[in-house]
Amino acid sequence: MRAFSFSTDDGYTQIGVEYQENLYNFSLAWELYKQIKSSGQGPQLNFLQIMVETDFFHLDTFQEVIFALRKVRSIDDLKLSHEYKFLPPINRPQKILCIGRNYEAHADELGNVKPKEPLFFCKAPSALIGHEESIRLPKHAGRVDHEGEVAVVIGKSGHNIKENHALEYVGGYSLLNDVTARELQKSDQQAGRPWFRAKSFDTFCPFGPFLVPKESIHDPNNLQLEVTVNGNVRQAGSASQMIFDIASIIAYLSQYCTLEPGDIIATGTPAGVAPLKSGDLVELTVPELGTLRNTVE
Ligand code: MG
Repeated sequence: MRAFSFSTDDGYTQIGVEYQENLYNFSLAWELYKQIKSSGQGPQLNFLQIMVETDFFHLDTFQEVIFALRKVRSIDDLKLSHEYKFLPPINRPQKILCIGRNYEAHADELGNVKPKEPLFFCKAPSALIGHEESIRLPKHAGRVDHEGEVAVVIGKSGHNIKENHALEYVGGYSLLNDVTARELQKSDQQAGRPWFRAKSFDTFCPFGPFLVPKESIHDPNNLQLEVTVNGNVRQAGSASQMIFDIASIIAYLSQYCTLEPGDIIATGTPAGVAPLKSGDLVELTVPELGTLRNTVE
């Protein structure tokens, strides 16, 4: 089962779940489930971020609710029709941490050396957009590249996390496009400045469509990522090619800052980054995580 955040026509934010290839309103399912199990007592679950923060974001929560309802009623009325819009699964993370140069071939293509320890930087949470929203190319920013990446969402708070326990701190996995103003990044890099602004323009962080509970992903270090632009493959890589795997990234980052539920970690991009132009359609696909699709304005 894969979860997502969506807004309805009348502006409400809800949680959805994909079950047997259909999309259902999980927030409504949860309210019905509470009526059956606890006379309506219990938290409201309208935001995935709250579900992660309150430790309800697990595969068995989704299964328990859907299976319990199906025992007593049809769930067909909870199926989503076309009037909904995907939102970033996590909408207000405390931080978005990104790993740079985590695939050797990508470090090579930009003329950078292979890092000896993880290189990380931040991206502004205000850059987040959802599936099927548009990436806006800023005027005068020069070349803007796509960077398809596997994203990790933290599920529980941790500091100085041991590598052999690091995956226990994951809530789920998703897809993230670390859109980058490349010329600005290069010039800031050469001037000894941080990369933050080149990574943080509004709309430079497409994220989603789904947040997949970690229990559904057997081997996160073996996810196969493909990025296409207008249907042509630009990037293809396996998470197994990462210089630093997901557990070592989590352990490393948690030495510097406490990782909090809902924090997003972008794990680095394979080779093949290239410029985007107005009118492009960029799609990131990992079969287990879905396809994140955005147009460029
Ligand atoms: Mg990146």
